[in-house]
Amino acid sequence: MILGKSIELWQKEYPLLTEIINTNQVFWLNLDYKKYNDAYIKKCLTENDVKSAEKRLKRFAPYIAKVFPETKERQGIIESRTIRIPRMKEHMEDLFDQKVICENLLLKCDSHLPISGSIKARGGIYEVLKHAEDLAFEFGMLSRDDDYSILDSEKFRNFYSHYSIVVGSTGNLGLSIGIMSAKLGFNVVVHMSSDAKRWKKDLLRNKGVTVIEYLSDYSKAVAEGRKQAEQQPNSYFVDDENSKNLFLGYAVAALRLKEQLSDLNVAVDDNHPLFVYLPCGVGGGPGGVTFGLKLMYKDHVHCFFAEPTHSPCMLIGCMTGEYDKVCVQDFGIDNITDADGLAVGRASRFVGRTMKNLLSGIYTVNDNILYRMLSGIADTEQIYVEPSAMAGAPGIFNLFMTEAGQKYIKDQGLKGKMQNASHIIWATGGNMVPKEEMNNYYRKGFINQ
Ligand SMILES: *Cc1c(COP(=O)(O)O)cnc(C)c1O
Repeated sequence: MILGKSIELWQKEYPLLTEIINTNQVFWLNLDYKKYNDAYIKKCLTENDVKSAEKRLKRFAPYIAKVFPETKERQGIIESRTIRIPRMKEHMEDLFDQKVICENLLLKCDSHLPISGSIKARGGIYEVLKHAEDLAFEFGMLSRDDDYSILDSEKFRNFYSHYSIVVGSTGNLGLSIGIMSAKLGFNVVVHMSSDAKRWKKDLLRNKGVTVIEYLSDYSKAVAEGRKQAEQQPNSYFVDDENSKNLFLGYAVAALRLKEQLSDLNVAVDDNHPLFVYLPCGVGGGPGGVTFGLKLMYKDHVHCFFAEPTHSPCMLIGCMTGEYDKVCVQDFGIDNITDADGLAVGRASRFVGRTMKNLLSGIYTVNDNILYRMLSGIADTEQIYVEPSAMAGAPGIFNLFMTEAGQKYIKDQGLKGKMQNASHIIWATGGNMVPKEEMNNYYRKGFINQ
């Protein structure tokens, strides 16, 4: 029994559930999707919040540029490129045996964000900086008009050494929080789930981060982290399942993307729809980006989440409207996938509810396809990413090749506009993966072809 109902009853109510339980690839349209003006938007999240997050990141930029030289090129702003990928488009058209008519197919290279090489460099680092600023303001050590490069000093490192930052993670969030917090001088404790890779733990330990390992999955690592932080004074828990700050850090991506698209002459308007495909774990990353994009482009942008067939937590949560009250294990799904950033069995309630009227749909991808996309983009565009990062790649084909996709296009009045559309595959991680590991990934995708 799940929430008082048998699995059979759930399946009767949601026919797609049978496919999901069988870990087949599915494409689900969100029946609660609404026009922007009719959508319920949380009062506690506004465009001003996103703009003030962007301003905070600008205040920190001189410090970031000083302590992370790889960010100097962009003056301490942690941002990635958005690029056209015509060769990958051809490659995928061959693979899926389907021509795709559109104006642009783009890749958002968050896989190559500086400092921690994944989308977590947005939310995770933002939240640590916000906490550092709050503390320094509280003790009168810093003001908004200061040059924040003064944070790179013994005085500040000593100040922060009296405080701890705690987080639970499948790996990438731990890297972002760990690297940033350790640089500022905080004590950092990262609670890692069993699927977190050895090299991530080693890298963090080398930076002086305390890593605690668990034999169970992400939800347990988060719960233990939360418990530990509550018991210690001066301890701050980065709550991946509920944090508004993480969410806002991700949302800033949309402001930056808008500028990049206009530099690339990519039109987004009533006649030029934009489709964005985002890999989803607990939901904060893709949710924050979607929220920001909706603020910027309203009905002109259509956002889809992508999850592994073995970890469809957001799909189950949103489809049933039960969000975090159900997890994939309830339905006999094992939450075992090579897409480590996405190996999450229970989605964020906060994100699920925030997305209720904004998200267009969710689809699932099996690991084989992730590997094939991974070696495909390496061969065609010489870009190396981790398996999770490619979950967005099949999105465009789901839209074109499934009944649900065609229904969406028709219902949204997009039929005559698809040839003008742009599509963005949001690549979410990979730059920190050691070469040896990356070669293994590549080979798996290659062999499968
Ligand atoms: C964390 C992560 C995601 C998804 O972000 P969530 O906030 O967990 O939904 C996607 N890709 C990679 C590589 C990640 O590390």
